[in-house]
Amino acid sequence: MDGDAPTPRPGLTCPFDKLRPSQLVRDDAFFMSLAFNLAVDAWRLDEVPIGAVIERGGEIIAAAHNEVERAGDPTAHAEMLAITQAARKIGDWRLNDCTLYVTKEPCPMCAGATIMSRLGRVVYGWGDPKMGCLGGATSLHSLPKLNHRVNAIGGILEGPCKEILQAYFNLKRGRDSSAPA
Ligand SMILES: [Zn+2]
Repeated sequence: MDGDAPTPRPGLTCPFDKLRPSQLVRDDAFFMSLAFNLAVDAWRLDEVPIGAVIERGGEIIAAAHNEVERAGDPTAHAEMLAITQAARKIGDWRLNDCTLYVTKEPCPMCAGATIMSRLGRVVYGWGDPKMGCLGGATSLHSLPKLNHRVNAIGGILEGPCKEILQAYFNLKRGRDSSAPA
């Protein structure tokens, strides 16, 4: 991301304000707030509002939001982009000592990537009963012969993380009847 303010387009005004977490308490809610703010950025670009950051030793080493539309790439989910960034940043594809914060429970692809990257911990906001693969719809981590298990917890800032997605899809449904449910 280049940090430039996106050009607003009609109908895309995001009604959600960014959160302003205290810098003094760097807990799960702090890092999830940063992920939520990336979801707001995604909405402003007319992307599905999902954001992710990766933390290591108290520092953010990756930050991304969903970019499927802009990239024209169905794999450009926030988690995938953040995992790639993190591996580049630390020069190692093994992310054992990292925590991924993502506003929505990872889909099958992204949950798979958390296993392949050996992420130490995954914290998500809203648990997705339809596509979530860390326990919401199913759990990839329950594969019996898996030799890496990710420590996953959900429900951090669940309200705002869920509301921004619901509001976005409600708007899209109103504008385009072919939008995904
Ligand atoms: Zn995904």
